[in-house]
Amino acid sequence: MIRLKTFIHISVLAATVAALTACSSKPSVEPAIARDAQVEAKVEKVLKGMSLKEKAGQMVQLTIVTIEDDTHEAIDPAKLDKIIGEYKVGSILNVMHDAAHTREQTAAMVKQIQDKSMEVLGIPCIYGLDMIHGASYLIEGSLYPQEINLGATFNRDYAFAMGRAMAYETRAAQVPWVFSPVMDLGRDPRWPRLWESWGEDPYLQAEMARVETIAIQGSNPNHIGFENAAVSLKHYMGYGVPHTGKDRTPAYIAENDLREKYFRPFKECFQAGALTAMVNSASINGIPTHANHELLTVWAKEQLGWDGMLVTDWADIDNLYQRDHVAADKREAIALGINAGIDMIMDPYDPECVNDIVALAEAGEIPMSRIDDAVRRVLRLKVRLGLFENPTWEYEYPDFASEKFAKESYAAAVESEVLLKNEGGILPLKGTEHILVCGPNANSLRALNGGWSYTWQGAADLFVPQYNTIREALEQRFPGKVWWVPGVVYDENYGAWAHDIATRIQQAVSVARTVDVVICCVGENSYCETPGNMDDLNLSANQKELVRAVAATGKPIILVLNEGRPRIIGDIEPLAKAVVDVMLPSNYGGDALAALLAGDENFSGKLPFTYPKHINSLHTYDYKVSEHRETMAGSYNYDAVMDVQWPFGYGLSYTTFAYSNFVLDTPADFKAGDEIKVSVKVTNTGDRAGKEAVLLYSSDLVASLIPDVKRLRGFEKIDLQPGESKIVSFVLPANELAFVGADGKWRLEKGDFRLSCGGLGLMLNCTETKVWDTPNI
Ligand code: BGC
Repeated sequence: MIRLKTFIHISVLAATVAALTACSSKPSVEPAIARDAQVEAKVEKVLKGMSLKEKAGQMVQLTIVTIEDDTHEAIDPAKLDKIIGEYKVGSILNVMHDAAHTREQTAAMVKQIQDKSMEVLGIPCIYGLDMIHGASYLIEGSLYPQEINLGATFNRDYAFAMGRAMAYETRAAQVPWVFSPVMDLGRDPRWPRLWESWGEDPYLQAEMARVETIAIQGSNPNHIGFENAAVSLKHYMGYGVPHTGKDRTPAYIAENDLREKYFRPFKECFQAGALTAMVNSASINGIPTHANHELLTVWAKEQLGWDGMLVTDWADIDNLYQRDHVAADKREAIALGINAGIDMIMDPYDPECVNDIVALAEAGEIPMSRIDDAVRRVLRLKVRLGLFENPTWEYEYPDFASEKFAKESYAAAVESEVLLKNEGGILPLKGTEHILVCGPNANSLRALNGGWSYTWQGAADLFVPQYNTIREALEQRFPGKVWWVPGVVYDENYGAWAHDIATRIQQAVSVARTVDVVICCVGENSYCETPGNMDDLNLSANQKELVRAVAATGKPIILVLNEGRPRIIGDIEPLAKAVVDVMLPSNYGGDALAALLAGDENFSGKLPFTYPKHINSLHTYDYKVSEHRETMAGSYNYDAVMDVQWPFGYGLSYTTFAYSNFVLDTPADFKAGDEIKVSVKVTNTGDRAGKEAVLLYSSDLVASLIPDVKRLRGFEKIDLQPGESKIVSFVLPANELAFVGADGKWRLEKGDFRLSCGGLGLMLNCTETKVWDTPNI
């Protein structure tokens, strides 16, 4: 066992050193971010004057906890002296008390750090925060629905709006760096961070994250303005599909999928100018990502010519020896990570990391060329952000916490809540009904927001009670008609509140008997990362019991799901007349739901993930044709039925849309390099205005690897009045239909393809096979 471990370790190091030697020459590819001579000159000038210790300091990031005083509310000047003056640390992250602060408090704290850094180092510090769905860590900041909701809008405008507001407000608090967008493909519903992603599809994720990146950084990554910030794409990459379903555990991803589905969205964002990325905390195919030279250095930096900066995730260098056993101790772990391509270590508590880097460089275990490369990347980020000239800045932010951002957040919530069932057209409500609202999610802002909301685990009720919960929004929309009984807590182990569930359910049942309709709000409380791990994807037994009990009264049930991942409800779904998945719509989610249920607004959200029905039938919409009986016509019955609750892209509206005239505007025969143009006519055939996400899919009918049954290739959100029609056109580069073959090469193969949109289909023919020798196309 020990020998094997040593062998793996030595071979990883040997490969790393060989690769470092081989790749010290400049990449010949077009740089992902165009070089700016002034920026580079400044970087070189600063680098030249730096000692080894100063360089090592730039490569370390610590949590604010290391410089806070005993009140945990202010910086301790002596600690600041030590961390910045003595250790020369170049970056700080996080918030004191794990809680949001006001804009002024945050700005004052950053100023203190910057003053010290400029005084003792002449180099600005870079402060970074987890701003995840808006300015998550500012008390008065604007929050938008979580990414999973924005994915459900299929509307790029909201990714842009959120990114712009997030950068603007973060910058208003003197913080220039956000750890966003999250780009983990949410392809396993058991994983507790699914809601931080845009859903399961690589194209949807690539589009939304690219747009958000541009919104956060602005149009010129070499010169970030005062209303913009640097992004940190995360978590690079393959973090969202742990084999166990538990956070930060190993993933096993086929090499071709890694390139085609997991890397591709990151590539789009690197090429859109993303200045930094944070590395996946776990491992892929047995290699901890923090030690994966191939992914960190070869794929991201060399093959893309990307000159940005890679930061570790929280204490993940320690994980290389403490958890993953690929290094014997901290020093080995640091060398392994930095030689693999890490530029900045989020340690986050131990400044001694700086001295370890110095010692490793002096011993030749990390080549000076690698240290200089990493430091250049850190300095380049600071120069691009203008921090040398303006470590802090005087600038007006009139839109901070504005009505404008609030309206966008509300509109995004409306477009993100998904109507999954509406039997007999029970919705919209007439407005005359007496309503019981029950369930643990009925009166919780915390649950509407999810994690990364004012605190890490989410604590909106404590910070922003002024916003409406679902119950409050319903009471305002239907005055005098709403009764509220929580009924149950999330599960039977839920602290003091959990006693006597049966009595609580009976209270809900007695009121249910007296009303016309029951809105049952179930799901999950807020959570984030490992605390969100769980053993059963089923909705908790308590909540199912509540639904069964109120349904037994015979009153119609509207089931509202407020959850970060699709909890299985296959057994209770038939008891509901209507189902709405609001996911995590944030502070205006209750108001949006009330307006949607009342019919003041129309539903247009579509699921950005596959909603499972059974725990043993988890899959994504782009499954292999051979995974599913419906798409497989094998030589015998394999009985592989993947019975899902609702498919990816599913969502109802109060109106109806008809698709027609799905036509090719370019020839049906195509080859690599061509552009395929298609258009489709969409008509609102109902009697209400509505929005429709028009989704374009492709299917490769025969390929040298078992083809995916279909892949999303385009989406557009349109707005239609009753009776109105619009033509939606898509331009699809033929190269987008290529896939990565068994040899790791992109290939577009000769043969038939089908495009589909709104139930209509079109055949296309690729006339010649092309195999690319370049890693990226
Ligand atoms: C999370 C990251 C986060 C970092 C810094 C980690 O535990 O995985 O997503 O950015 O902490 O707070």
